[in-house]
Amino acid sequence: MTDTLTAHDMAASLVHRATRWLNTTNGTSQQELILRILKVAEEVGEVCETIESQGTRRDDTVRELVDVIVTAMTAQASLGHEPYGLDRLDPVWHRPGQLPHAAVILSAETGRLAAAVIGWTGQNPRKGQTHTVEQVCNQLANVVPQAAAMISMCGVDPADAIRDGVAKFHDRLDALGVGQ
Ligand SMILES: [Mg+2]
Repeated sequence: MTDTLTAHDMAASLVHRATRWLNTTNGTSQQELILRILKVAEEVGEVCETIESQGTRRDDTVRELVDVIVTAMTAQASLGHEPYGLDRLDPVWHRPGQLPHAAVILSAETGRLAAAVIGWTGQNPRKGQTHTVEQVCNQLANVVPQAAAMISMCGVDPADAIRDGVAKFHDRLDALGVGQ
């Protein structure tokens, strides 16, 4: 079993590699950074689809939950912050629960993330800028342990799932010729 700190370090290393690649290929405009945050919502949607599908394999749900964790950490790193969320042993990881209810909580966290992004950009002319980039990062960090808890609900150790998922992401970056 991979311990939590190792899982965090492995994920953080991958995330920094992916962030350097994205920064080089796509730049670091605010629009680009917002799209990287939006990617988290895409992955949360994919988690919900695997849970909604009748007869779906839990493997698919676990894989999409790892995608949520990696994209949320990549978005934090892209915003210039250390990627948090896996950095401490959290009892919520092993909290028993039902996946559909947990998916509702994950969706609520994603909604709060969207609110933070809108507040950060000041997109609402009535409200102006209501959130800082730190608040966006905090909300990204809140998504991570919830996704990890859901992996545990699938009967899989989150640290093991993260280790396996990170290795596959590295393989994909290797295939693209992305530097370490
Ligand atoms: Mg996915």
